[in-house]
Amino acid sequence: MEDYPTNLLEFEKRFATEQACRQYFQKLRWPDGFQCPNCGNKKAWLTKRDLYHCENCGVQTSLLAGTIFQDTKKPLQLWFHAIWHITNQKYGANAPGLQRILGLGSYHTAWTWLHKLRRAMVRPGRDRLEGIIEVDDTFIGGKRTGKRGRGASGKELVVIATQKDGRKIGRIRLQRVPDASAESLENAVQKI
Ligand SMILES: [Zn+2]
Repeated sequence: MEDYPTNLLEFEKRFATEQACRQYFQKLRWPDGFQCPNCGNKKAWLTKRDLYHCENCGVQTSLLAGTIFQDTKKPLQLWFHAIWHITNQKYGANAPGLQRILGLGSYHTAWTWLHKLRRAMVRPGRDRLEGIIEVDDTFIGGKRTGKRGRGASGKELVVIATQKDGRKIGRIRLQRVPDASAESLENAVQKI
């Protein structure tokens, strides 16, 4: 989406209300306007429980049904905060961090959300990245803080490829590499 915020202040402004989040998500889900999943009709009214009631067949559809947010009892706004947090952690988000930033009562919820969102960010089938790709590398894991490049023992070197999607960050791929040699890096990037 072109109007996705590029910094925290814009994000807070843009998604200040649950209504704003729902409107944004509605545009993502139905870019050409609502369409009934049952009969394809485009006209519906919104019920008191925020369901789309198809004027043609009467089937009621929720905005979140069939998406990763289906059956959630938490506000969409909180999910949006989770996504913002995860995509803005250079060294990767973790469950305790997510729990703290969202004020979630349960560690298990934070863990589940993190994994659900990670799975959604790397789609199964892995169609390759396209367009403008930014590549970076980082060390993950290990107890000691190592130097960049060779010799940071106990750490895994990982190449991060990010597909630029206008001004925002699009899809992301991670690929483990044995070392920081040009050959290894090139190999990894080929697979991404
Ligand atoms: Zn219908």
